[in-house]
Amino acid sequence: MELILTEKHTDGYSVNWKIKETLHVEQTKYQHLAIVETYEFGRALVLDGIIQTTVKDEYMYHEMIALPALMTHPNPQKVMVIGGGDGGTIREVLKHPAVEQADLIEIDERVILACQKYLPEISCALTDSRVRIFVEDGIEYVQRHKDKYDVILIDSSDPIGPATNLFHESFYKNVYEALKIDGIMVCQSESPLFNRELLGNVHKSVKNLFPITRTYLATVPTYISGFWSFTMGSKQYDPLNAEIPLDVVNRLKTKYYNADIHKGAFVLPEYVAELFR
Ligand code: SAM
Repeated sequence: MELILTEKHTDGYSVNWKIKETLHVEQTKYQHLAIVETYEFGRALVLDGIIQTTVKDEYMYHEMIALPALMTHPNPQKVMVIGGGDGGTIREVLKHPAVEQADLIEIDERVILACQKYLPEISCALTDSRVRIFVEDGIEYVQRHKDKYDVILIDSSDPIGPATNLFHESFYKNVYEALKIDGIMVCQSESPLFNRELLGNVHKSVKNLFPITRTYLATVPTYISGFWSFTMGSKQYDPLNAEIPLDVVNRLKTKYYNADIHKGAFVLPEYVAELFR
């Protein structure tokens, strides 16, 4: 019998994935979690019925949530990742030679454990000695830390369940305060086609706090509409003027990010730019 995973995105739009095998399934304290083997994209992490990351295209998302900020900051030594229990963002963070400490704040330990078991290519860096893992709500964690981090990356799931408040201005304010005087944050800010109101609100909230606010895009075929947005708030450094250290970039072994992508990602098509006017 054919196994199909139907991702329901809206009342009128669903995506069907043909599945070879379901490797793991459980209801955690926070969400429904599954690891499946797809035909087209290899293994995938599924949370609450929505594919979060796949072996085939995960690098596009993980490089692009992490590297634009790390390459904009001149010395990103201390980095925090909120969410991101699959470990892909941490893996990209650790590629930067300046990083001394990478803290992962993931609310659901079961996500970390399942990804360590079934998605080693993505989670491999979680055992690195520079990584500290805190199983905790990121909202509470940031409240307790002031003036500590160079870069904070918010690799959250969609704005439902435990991730809802990760899209609110009050949370970004705490992120602002957890950053050092020249810190940078990036959050994944959803599809620019399907989540327009949310993206507009995220950009506005970040702009209310940070002197430099930039939204940028990357293609991520797995995600609804194929285009994904990220919003950066920076206290001092503008990613558009960043001197990208080419010697560092060339050593990163990236498959998506490079110095030209860094510049091009911030160029927005009209249907996105108009959200911020
Ligand atoms: N790359 C994915 C995307 O954009 O679809 C998201 C990655 S997924 C691994 C996001 C993670 O955020 C989930 O493992 C979830 O448990 C975690 N998460 C959700 N709300 C959180 C919160 N309040 N604090 C910390 N982690 C949270």
